[in-house]
Amino acid sequence: MAILTARIEERDEPSGKRKSYSDHLWKDESDVKTSVRAVLRRMAPGVLGCCMYCGSTTGTDIEHFEPREKNPAQTFRWSNHLLACGPCNSTYKRTWWECDTETGEPLLIDPTREDPFTHLFLDLGKGTYRRLTRKGQKTIDVLGLNLHERRFPEARRLARKCARRVIRDWGRARRDSDEAGMRDALDVLRIQPFADVWQSMLRQAVMPGADIVMDGEHPEVLYLLRNEELRAATLVDFPVQAAPAAGD
Ligand SMILES: [Zn+2]
Repeated sequence: MAILTARIEERDEPSGKRKSYSDHLWKDESDVKTSVRAVLRRMAPGVLGCCMYCGSTTGTDIEHFEPREKNPAQTFRWSNHLLACGPCNSTYKRTWWECDTETGEPLLIDPTREDPFTHLFLDLGKGTYRRLTRKGQKTIDVLGLNLHERRFPEARRLARKCARRVIRDWGRARRDSDEAGMRDALDVLRIQPFADVWQSMLRQAVMPGADIVMDGEHPEVLYLLRNEELRAATLVDFPVQAAPAAGD
């Protein structure tokens, strides 16, 4: 990828040669794209790799955080690649790109280097996001994270219901010293789509006034969410590192 990037950068930009050459390489280098997609899938939540923007199950596309249409030199830059679903990539984000005029900082959350929860707060009762920063608001707007037509609020509320059931299963298995049952519950929590819901539940459970913040969470669920063993097994710190490939 470094070689391909160097080749692209050798081409003249103002004449458009850099753009057309990067288009040609992106179309041609299917082996590189296969490898990139495989590593991104290991970094994304879920067995098949969920979308790194919205958390749905259909992370299928290699997305360029800074659009290659705007900056062809970013076409094969590893740090510019994300796994995204078709709608996030092709319908919502597309070639959108805005930066702060003073700092030059992109106005979209980059999940490869930032903790999204710095910018966004999930209202677990409604299943919608609230902005904590200007970047958070832009991310909600650009990706349509609260749009009912994308059915995300409904899907997040369902993911919360599933997580509550599974965490209670985990608690029961723990009381019964059923290690296989505990492992099963953890597997379900790790692979479910909308991982942001589970991560929000873990974070909000240790906030002051957590039962109110979490829209009246059940005391048993709150108690379990604060369990250190469960938190150590499932709480994700950002940025996320790639899991080793099978055989590594
Ligand atoms: Zn998506």
